[in-house]
Amino acid sequence: MIKNHEQQALAGESDQLALLSRVQDLEKEIYRLQYTDTLTGLGNRELFLAKLDEFFQQVEQGLIDGFFLTAIDFDNFKKVDDLYGYKVGDKLIRESAQRLLSITNESDVLFRVSGTKLGILHPVDSANVAEEWSHHILQTLAEVYYIEEHIIELQVSMGLLCLPEDAKDSVEAINRVELAYYKAKETKNYSNVVLYYPQLNEQTIKVLAIEKELIKALANDNIEVYYQPQFSLPERQLQGFEALARWRHPQQGLISPTEFIPIAEETGLIIAIGNRILEQACEQSVLWTKKGFEHTLSVNISIVQLKDPKFLTYVTDILQKTGVNPNSIEFEITENIFMGNIQDKIGLLKKLKKLGISIAIDDFGTGYSSLNYIKEFPLDILKIDRTFIKNIPQSRKDCAIAKTILILAKELFVKVVAEGMEEEEQVLFLEQEKCDSAQGYYFSQPLEVSEAGKLVDSYLNELNEN
Ligand code: C2E
Ligand code: MG
Ligand code: MG
Repeated sequence: MIKNHEQQALAGESDQLALLSRVQDLEKEIYRLQYTDTLTGLGNRELFLAKLDEFFQQVEQGLIDGFFLTAIDFDNFKKVDDLYGYKVGDKLIRESAQRLLSITNESDVLFRVSGTKLGILHPVDSANVAEEWSHHILQTLAEVYYIEEHIIELQVSMGLLCLPEDAKDSVEAINRVELAYYKAKETKNYSNVVLYYPQLNEQTIKVLAIEKELIKALANDNIEVYYQPQFSLPERQLQGFEALARWRHPQQGLISPTEFIPIAEETGLIIAIGNRILEQACEQSVLWTKKGFEHTLSVNISIVQLKDPKFLTYVTDILQKTGVNPNSIEFEITENIFMGNIQDKIGLLKKLKKLGISIAIDDFGTGYSSLNYIKEFPLDILKIDRTFIKNIPQSRKDCAIAKTILILAKELFVKVVAEGMEEEEQVLFLEQEKCDSAQGYYFSQPLEVSEAGKLVDSYLNELNEN
């Protein structure tokens, strides 16, 4: 009997053991399902969050000195899905995970947070290898992918945080690595890694705050146009205006475009702002034309607007809606148009010219220009930048540059406007060199619309009197 009892007990024990091991297997399976990304086999977002806390604890307990946290993504991945289908896209993500696994250690935690977003937690004992380490990761991921019969090249952006120095806890770490990642993504045309730095935080907060206020400004019609007169040389007669954006802030007063245009460009708001400026300028041009003022009105156009596939449609709509004479409108674009794919841009400028709009290169001489491009682009006007005018006639070099631009322009049948004229002697020099027109504080500051109107009226009165 006793034996039987013992046997039963033993049998019960082994059943229990078997059960226990089955439970353990199930737990592992649940853990795996819960924490593994099914596409890549890497950790998923949940694992990342848990491990990030764990790494912070290990630092506190002195088990590791510190660790790196990265956020990595492909800049233009949508192109892969669009061109080759999502199956190729999936294969590429799997391949990128394999590449990461092949160059990292057992102690690293790799994960796919979402979509194409990958990340690594990498324990370190010294932070000064961050750059080298991250460049190796970046290069490995950015190398050409051979998926099925396709050869695919992608740009990679990566943000990196050295912890615990760069953030006090997991929440802060996630925010900051994202900031660094977005900063890296701003770099166009090549893969980039950005190591987090504290100013990044301040800059981003400032940009976000201004972006929010700019949206309000658009809704409340607080983006205005000022008009700076342009004069023909040597007659020194009013021939038109340049439209310059101003932000009338309810608390801060008038804000200069140099402060908000770059942020508008970064956030994409420049599309809405640019359209609004163009529309206001066209409406104004119509009013002046009705008064009998023959003029040109130049409007600054950002490269971000020119790259927008809908730009031509916006322009056509605004021309139609306002009924402006397109021959009085000039678009001022900067030399950065010469970078990247120029054939598309030549095509766009030709279409704008077909609508009747003239094209000016603004701030000429300060950016990236090639004489070859100037020859190929359908240009009407070069605006000599203020920096070359400032020291005329004292600086022999600046005089030589201004003269050379004028000779070049004449040969190419392009007109020249000199910007930033502040002194009589500058005007005299440019008149002597046969510059077509001028603009600057010597003649007038940019004016509020009512002031610009007064100038037009007195010019028209003078014309009528003569
Ligand atoms: P910009 O197109 O080269 O405009 C000329 C700038 O020089 C204007 O500054 C004008 O006020 C200033 N200026 C004119 N004459 C003189 C002078 O004699 N001396 C000096 N020191 N400055 C003079 P503003 O209005 O602050 O505009 C700065 C820049 O912001 C513009 O340079 C243009 O690049 C950009 N911007 C202005 N409005 C717009 C806009 O509607 N769209 C876009 N995309 N950019 C704009
Ligand atoms: Mg301009
Ligand atoms: Mg300029």
